[in-house]
Amino acid sequence: KVRVRFAPSPTGPLHLGGVRTALYDYLFAKNQGGEFVLRIEDTDTARYVEGAEEYIEEALEWCGIIPDESPKKGGKFAPYRQSERRDIYDRYTEQILKTDYAYMAFDTPEELDAVRAEFEANGEVFSYDNKTRNRLKNNLSLSEEEVQKLLDAKTPYVVRFKMPVDRVLNLEDIIRGKSSVNTNTLDDKVLVKNDGMPTYHFANIIDDHEMEISHVIRGEEWLPSLGLHTLLYEAMEWEAPQFAHLSLILKPDVSALISKDNIDGITKSFTDEFITKNSQFSFDESAPIIKSFFAEVKSPRFKSMLGENDNDNPLTAAVKQFLKKGLSGKLSKRDGDKFGFPVFPLDFKDPATGAVSKGYRENGYLPDAFINMVALLGWSPADDKEILSLDDMAKEFDLHKVHKAGARFSKEKSEWFNHQYIQMRSDEELLQMLKSSDLDLSGATDEKLLKVIPLMKERATFPKDIYENGKFFFEAPTSYDEKASKKAWNDETSAILGELSTTLESTDFAAETLKQMMHDFAENKGLGMGKVMMPLRLALVGELKGPDVPDILEIIGKEESIARISNAIN
Ligand code: GLU
Repeated sequence: KVRVRFAPSPTGPLHLGGVRTALYDYLFAKNQGGEFVLRIEDTDTARYVEGAEEYIEEALEWCGIIPDESPKKGGKFAPYRQSERRDIYDRYTEQILKTDYAYMAFDTPEELDAVRAEFEANGEVFSYDNKTRNRLKNNLSLSEEEVQKLLDAKTPYVVRFKMPVDRVLNLEDIIRGKSSVNTNTLDDKVLVKNDGMPTYHFANIIDDHEMEISHVIRGEEWLPSLGLHTLLYEAMEWEAPQFAHLSLILKPDVSALISKDNIDGITKSFTDEFITKNSQFSFDESAPIIKSFFAEVKSPRFKSMLGENDNDNPLTAAVKQFLKKGLSGKLSKRDGDKFGFPVFPLDFKDPATGAVSKGYRENGYLPDAFINMVALLGWSPADDKEILSLDDMAKEFDLHKVHKAGARFSKEKSEWFNHQYIQMRSDEELLQMLKSSDLDLSGATDEKLLKVIPLMKERATFPKDIYENGKFFFEAPTSYDEKASKKAWNDETSAILGELSTTLESTDFAAETLKQMMHDFAENKGLGMGKVMMPLRLALVGELKGPDVPDILEIIGKEESIARISNAIN
């Protein structure tokens, strides 16, 4: 039976990478007709963040990733919170200590610091491992009496894994295939802390065994632990689950993010970061140089501009270095603020600082658009289809098709998905979204909104855009775009619009009729349609944007349309 778990630690909000892991866990389980379990790994009390568990549950729920078993829901293997499973761990701690795979280590932190310092003095790095353990304070190096004395004195100890000497481990990963590691390169990890609580490694494999997990699908950062985990299963004489490690989500391409609108903001945040790391430079001297590079990011020569050059002054060289680094590497939680897009599914308020990190939900993303985008960060279905519901994805998901290479996050792509999903929502659904948003809709009736929605949704990235880009339906323009005025207006325009206005007085305000009437009007006057439509649009909207003019006229209505024309010509 396929059983998959998502096992986050409540150390902060779930981020994009976490959502993707949870989603792939879920999709694989559903694809195989199996179960999806949420387990909270909260044995590290020092890193516990208040509210993080609730956040994780709520975020998964918003995404539609509903666990079959969880702390909230319970299940056959409850409890699902590691902090509540202490008695289970105690049993297995006793068990592993009876094997040749674990030992008690009594070294105090001060003693370990002293050893570390000694190593450093010799230019070496200390590691508690199969080469050093015989010199340290544990039951492998001490006599039985000495150990008994320490135990009688209630000396605190940790349990460490006894890494075998010079063994080659053959590891298997569904996505990455086979690899091997020599145990001499691995250290003796702490399995149980001196308060008796297991560390991640030990609790994790105990629970995966106890909860009958068949497949472990998790982030690449856990790949280096696979050797240890494999040996832990061996030590406990348990069958190990199958493993699949997901590649990183990479930073977005900076060149795709920078636009005229945000170049100053992005320049500021990059410059701030730059001068913190390079204190010899000031903001005022660095910002213009960084900006001059950003101004070129969309040009084909940008990449070559970053090449090193003997003539570079130290500032330019450093900026190039910095920009190159900014273009590669793992997407970090802080990149969201830096680049102006959410990296968390929901807003998260840091309980320590009160700072709020932006979430997809609060920024107008639809949950199905969001998970569709996340799913394709590292996986593509057989036919390369892009728009998939959660059920479609579950039907098609295949771990063997998950990419080995890192997936680059793209803000544009996430907006594109949202736009697509808005088109799939009914007008009534979009109306409800607008009404439950924080928009001030006091001047807008449902009836009118329902007329505006179908005209404006085609160009909307977020539900709010429908109203915000269609404000002119509800309010007369207070100014006219200068460039548009130059283009649309000349000496005759006022007279033409004046006459048009008179004709409008006696026209039935239905789009079709209006269209015909304006056609006739232009023809009678011997004018091109543009000469009539452009200034009329400017008078109604304030710029040369928006849906067809007859549609705008119909919705605004006769009285208001005529008032706006009269405003524009006087
Ligand atoms: N608690 C670990 C984490 O937060 C789980 C790793 C795993 O899935 O084994 O990432």
